[in-house]
Amino acid sequence: MTSPSLNPIDLRDLRLDDARALLEHGGAIDLPTPETAPAAFLQGVIDGLCELSLRDPLTGLANRRHFRAVLAREIDVVVRSGNPALLLMLDIDHFKSINDAHGHLAGDRVLQAVARCLAGCVRPQDTVARYGGEEFAIVLPDCQLNYGEAVAERIRQTVANLSIAVSPELTLQITLSVGGAFAPTQSRCTPDVWVERADNQLYQAKAQGRNRVYIDHQQVISVSAEEKSLLFGALSTGEPAWGESAPGTNEDSAMQKVNP
Ligand code: GH3
Ligand code: MG
Ligand code: MG
Repeated sequence: MTSPSLNPIDLRDLRLDDARALLEHGGAIDLPTPETAPAAFLQGVIDGLCELSLRDPLTGLANRRHFRAVLAREIDVVVRSGNPALLLMLDIDHFKSINDAHGHLAGDRVLQAVARCLAGCVRPQDTVARYGGEEFAIVLPDCQLNYGEAVAERIRQTVANLSIAVSPELTLQITLSVGGAFAPTQSRCTPDVWVERADNQLYQAKAQGRNRVYIDHQQVISVSAEEKSLLFGALSTGEPAWGESAPGTNEDSAMQKVNP
């Protein structure tokens, strides 16, 4: 039996002009010439479009789509490896007043400078994303629990010390508030829950005066042997433990989320 022959694609049959213009304009990739290397050209277009679809155009950081994918992947890694991972949500303080006082373009320059600064603060394996507007997110895999506060604090201080030249005559300084949460290692959370926990801490940082860091240390709550036996011991006998209603109820599943 002979294998089916592959029909080579003639690039002239494809409408690639828009994609090519987009990539050349965005400077995302150097495309080979379609005439001399058609397959490499097509692969270049595909790679370039993938790259563009994951980046925020203003700052060049990972966009929200990319961030969500990284978050979901990291949850899997944490559950498999047991290594803690930290999510930071960061929001520029009083950013609206920068736009109001100096214009939208100045605001854009501030966003770009903060993005560069954040990218320079982290390790290659960390992901810095523009979450939306003047809000950023950082995923830090393999971040030990006792480093979380220090890492976030260093980032906060670095941004606060930044002098941002938005025009030859004008240099601005800004601060940001940071909320963080570790992914649970003993149970699987969802990206939404992880973001919500970090966001709650960010809300605290804002409410307590801004330019500060709040980290959810829920992960480090340890349960003593006695508490563990009270919480889980009776489950194996079929008897209800304290405060527990019948197995299978919501309270029951909530209790099992406590890290044993
Ligand atoms: P807070 O300290 O409570 O965070 O106050 P804030 O002023 O930073 O927050 P608020 O949500 O009131 O304002 C955010 C502003 O960010 C409003 C919006 O116009 C501006 N913004 C969102 N995206 C962009 C952007 O891409 N460029 C510029 N220049 N401004 C943006
Ligand atoms: Mg803000
Ligand atoms: Mg905001």
